[in-house]
Amino acid sequence: GLELRNIVKNFGAVEVIRDVSLAVNDGEFVAFVGPSGCGKSTLLRLIAGLDKPTGGSIAIDGKDVTGITAADRGLAMVFQSYALYPHMSVRENLAFGLENTKVAKAEIEARIADAARMLEIEPFLQRRPGQLSGGQRQRVAIGRAIVRRPDAFLLDEPLSNLDAELRVTMRAELAALHARLKATMIYVTHDQVEAMTLADRIVVLRGGRIEQVGTPLELYNKPANRFVAGFIGAPH
Ligand code: ATP
Ligand code: MG
Repeated sequence: GLELRNIVKNFGAVEVIRDVSLAVNDGEFVAFVGPSGCGKSTLLRLIAGLDKPTGGSIAIDGKDVTGITAADRGLAMVFQSYALYPHMSVRENLAFGLENTKVAKAEIEARIADAARMLEIEPFLQRRPGQLSGGQRQRVAIGRAIVRRPDAFLLDEPLSNLDAELRVTMRAELAALHARLKATMIYVTHDQVEAMTLADRIVVLRGGRIEQVGTPLELYNKPANRFVAGFIGAPH
């Protein structure tokens, strides 16, 4: 499991994450929701190890990883801005980071083929990211996380640039992927339908604090306040 204990993050004098504590079980699908600027991406980057908290600690399976680098945490992050390598082909982007590991070449190829089929990016494998649409790039970014077979996926608005139809397809694909890999997923979205349909639990953030954590049904039936109710779309 993943445990956040009293996480604080300051940028200069601004406190962006304010005393966030949360335990995520292995295999759980947790959605972070909240308005723009509430700290969702910042929190994800802290979990990924891409940034250090100002205060508090992060543990994975009971082991403190606060000082451990991103690569050694067994996580894979899909960024809001894709973060693909522009000078590499899609195939190279997918393979990058796997090539110098213990994973056999045939296994890498099999994983790429599998992800490409699932994400419908097979026709683009030889292209560079600059030759793809935003939605196609986003699917490549998801593919790059999938081929790593991480213990946990950190997904920052992974479907935000897809058209409505593809979004619905990809939502189902992500649910199937979660069921198949049994990996933990921490999923940032501002789409409450996505959060309600995909997540085991939803974390509602506002101004760097957790307003409420609960199952979709709990949040819908018993929102802690009007803010949560409004965000979830529950009657209030
Ligand atoms: P969005 O839904 O728009 O993606 P978010 O919830 O992901 O928003 P964050 O990106 O986590 O929000 O940003 C939280 C706050 O921290 C914002 O006010 C943002 O301006 C600020 N912030 C983020 N990164 C930095 C940084 N590197 N330096 C200074 N301030 C930052
Ligand atoms: Mg963000």
